[in-house]
Amino acid sequence: MTTSERSRPSELECITRSAEETRALARRLAPQLRPGDVVLLVGELGAGKTTFVRGLAEGLGLDPGRVSSPTFVLIQEYEREGAPSLYHVDAYRVRDPCELLEVGLEEYFERPGITVIEWGDKVRELVPPGAIEIRFEVLEDDRRRIRVRRLQRPT
Ligand code: ADP
Ligand code: MG
Repeated sequence: MTTSERSRPSELECITRSAEETRALARRLAPQLRPGDVVLLVGELGAGKTTFVRGLAEGLGLDPGRVSSPTFVLIQEYEREGAPSLYHVDAYRVRDPCELLEVGLEEYFERPGITVIEWGDKVRELVPPGAIEIRFEVLEDDRRRIRVRRLQRPT
């Protein structure tokens, strides 16, 4: 394993106690992401996925104010001169992963930006090996258990 690989997120488990803490965690992880990375966010409604995306945007030097949970737009692009692009997919309303192929999801994986997918468990078959999965578990008192792991690469 090279040093650069070791410094990228592999296995990590954190408990956050507020939305701000979740956002701060994402902000700190953002610089470890590389162009072409695909991040799957998995967790129930209200678990903190969109909050996490705001932190990622912030950490990449993008405008977190533009990040929302779009109801009818499947993919939003956040871009700024001099910053890595962030492609934000919300698969909440997706019933069949083919819907995302129709809007060109796979093309985003080839583009020089980071793709982050809410409800990422719905599209696991479509993402390239080596994608990062982040699971959100709702605990008591506003706490969230957040687990980060890199999905298996082929050997
Ligand atoms: P999702 O995108 O997973 O549906 P959101 O990020 O839109 O979830 O909303 C999460 C909600 O939970 C927000 O209202 C946020 O303020 C609240 N919240 C409370 N505690 C936390 C926490 N520890 N992390 C993230 N969000 C939290
Ligand atoms: Mg959301």
